[in-house]
Amino acid sequence: MLNVDEIRKDFPILSREVNGKPLVYFDNAATAQTPKQVIDTIVDYYSNYNANIHRGVHTLSQEATDLYEQARYKIQAHFNAKFSHEIIYTSGTTHGINLVANGFSSLLKKGDDIIVSALEHHSNIVPWQMLCERTGANLKVIPMNAEGELVMAEYSNLLSKNTKLVFVNHISNALGTINPIEDIIAQAHNVGAAVLIDGAQSTPHVKPDVQKLDVDFYVASAHKMCGPTGVGMLYGKEEWLKKLPPYQGGGEMIAEVTFEKTTYADLPHKFEAGTPNIAGGIAFGAAIDYMNGIGFNNIADFENELLEYATNKLLDIEGLKIYGTSKHKTAVISFNLEGIHPYDVGTILDKLGIAVRTGHHCAQPIMDYYKIPGTVRASFAFYNTKAEIDTLVAGVKKAKIMLS
Ligand SMILES: *Cc1c(COP(=O)(O)O)cnc(C)c1O
Repeated sequence: MLNVDEIRKDFPILSREVNGKPLVYFDNAATAQTPKQVIDTIVDYYSNYNANIHRGVHTLSQEATDLYEQARYKIQAHFNAKFSHEIIYTSGTTHGINLVANGFSSLLKKGDDIIVSALEHHSNIVPWQMLCERTGANLKVIPMNAEGELVMAEYSNLLSKNTKLVFVNHISNALGTINPIEDIIAQAHNVGAAVLIDGAQSTPHVKPDVQKLDVDFYVASAHKMCGPTGVGMLYGKEEWLKKLPPYQGGGEMIAEVTFEKTTYADLPHKFEAGTPNIAGGIAFGAAIDYMNGIGFNNIADFENELLEYATNKLLDIEGLKIYGTSKHKTAVISFNLEGIHPYDVGTILDKLGIAVRTGHHCAQPIMDYYKIPGTVRASFAFYNTKAEIDTLVAGVKKAKIMLS
């Protein structure tokens, strides 16, 4: 069991006020809050270890390098990658996806198929459209149903020997649906296609095992799992990372440079050009330690309780509709009040100190499917409480009265 009162003490921001009211932070799917254990790591790094890594013979540089590489081992262990060089530091999920999309430019030809899902974040759609424009490959889309689930029978129909890549998010950021990625990966592998899973929304709630999933690529952002912004990771199977060309050229990613020919560094450095977010990488490791300290089973149990509680309370409000009603979902509630624009609801909630997201959540195709401009999205984390949900419910009721 998780002691939420104790946990909340770790998050300095949770005790601040917004618009004269105690902050209720329900925008966790956009970014999670940062515990002092992680903040301290960043302060400690800049106070005691700041140096460039992998190049200096001096002590500071070696200490910084050790901390940064230890964090890579933590990430490797957390995701159960076979080798630490299969973990590439990135600036976040978007960077990881672009790195893979760029790499596949040289592997695809006209007539090849790439499959994405209707539940994707824009960052998981646009890079593939760009890739298709460069290569002449076709983009195919797994459709969704009214519950906000992927139609798996259609997926099976889209797969063929022309399918080279499948890209799906593990959990939808707009609706919270948990996609059946084991099945998606197995079916893709049956036709010889590679699979990239966008784990930006899953990693705050579950602990993925990349070997067990047998996934080819898996990407995540530290800031959605209690870490800092501007850092993330790409897991790639060694064979794939060896096959893909480097993404960016620069320092750190080379073995030898002459004007005739440059040879690339070994993994993972081949994909890590330039000075990285060193403090961010170290803090990412600290965030993983922090979340494992609480335990992902405890987190899931607690958040499911919050989800059920909030769903029931919100559905009591007449005219409130929830989008994304799969039985397999995480603690995200996307909703609208009949006849009221989500932006107006969000504005009133903000006056009450409640932070929710409004809009299309970088997932416009989903909004088009439901024929709505957007939703109000409340997304919960393990440091939220039922009392905060009561505040939200009261706020939504108030908004309804004020706006209708
Ligand atoms: C947040 C998010 C992204 C983008 O993550 P960045 O950290 O902004 O790169 C991609 N996919 C999903 C599902 C997300 O929730």
